[in-house]
Amino acid sequence: MTPDEALERLREGNRRFVADQPVPIDISTQRRLELAKGQQPFAALVGCADSRVGPEHLFGAGLGELFIVRTAGNYLDDAGFGSVAFAVSQLGVSLVVVLGHEQCGAVAAASAVVGDNAQLPPALTRMVQPILPAAIDAHARKVPEGDVLDLAIHLNVKRVVRGLREASDPIIGDPVRQRKVRVVGAYYDLSTGSVDFFDT
Ligand SMILES: [Zn+2]
Repeated sequence: MTPDEALERLREGNRRFVADQPVPIDISTQRRLELAKGQQPFAALVGCADSRVGPEHLFGAGLGELFIVRTAGNYLDDAGFGSVAFAVSQLGVSLVVVLGHEQCGAVAAASAVVGDNAQLPPALTRMVQPILPAAIDAHARKVPEGDVLDLAIHLNVKRVVRGLREASDPIIGDPVRQRKVRVVGAYYDLSTGSVDFFDT
């Protein structure tokens, strides 16, 4: 599947999710037995751990279709980057989606550290660390108070997208530069269910 075909499949799956006409998902024994022989996902996805944003549901994807890395704040650490690299180099994935979402708690925590000097427990401080640059950027842009979080969420997605597109590691950098692999950024709206691919 080409990157564009993979993207269109996600768009169509999401359109049907929004319309309450979800794609029928095959989770039969037959399908499991087929997949036991090997996987061929059509896209990799970097998403948030938030329980409301399960990617398979949003895109109407079944077993074996999406290769997913999820961390609070949809950030890629070394293990996450390696996981995407594995999907691209070993599984032939041609599309990588970085998916942020409305009311992201991890980005909100980073934003509170920047805007209100909030103190977090050590583990959470480490978790928000990679999100801080986006939060700092958002606070510096002089948007209305109520728009800062959403801006930070979008900027955080863009940073992760750029990190993949401009990766110095050739395992991802080369196929992206050769346009064999496409990296896109998206935003999920919790109430409408719609995914906006805003950075393509
Ligand atoms: Zn989140």
